[in-house]
Amino acid sequence: MTKDEAFARLAKSKFRSRFRLTAEDRAYIDRVGLATIRRHVEDFVRQKLAPAVPENDGRQTPMRGHPVFKAMHGSAMCCRGCMEKWWKVPRGRPLSAAQQRKAVDFLMAWIDWRVENDLAVSGSRDREP
Ligand SMILES: [Zn+2]
Repeated sequence: MTKDEAFARLAKSKFRSRFRLTAEDRAYIDRVGLATIRRHVEDFVRQKLAPAVPENDGRQTPMRGHPVFKAMHGSAMCCRGCMEKWWKVPRGRPLSAAQQRKAVDFLMAWIDWRVENDLAVSGSRDREP
């Protein structure tokens, strides 16, 4: 599955497509910079997804808050169950370094994708004083 195919599939899911970046998320991303966001993504993937049996699996990713949480839900990388269903990554085994890198790359691509697409929607709000 290419990145664009994955985006198209995610966009068809009512649940996944609910996750969008707001003007606030965008401001936060601009403030801290993409390199920092990537470090957050790497930390979350390593701590919340990479173990063979992550703590609280299925409930480890809050539904709101940090934009990376939205990326994880929006990308179907919120828990190992969703990763198995959507990404064919089997549960019960730790993620390899390569699998973690792939997840991080996709989550960063998701953030790029939403920054581009959600901005058009929130653009009118951005102009308000
Ligand atoms: Zn999940």
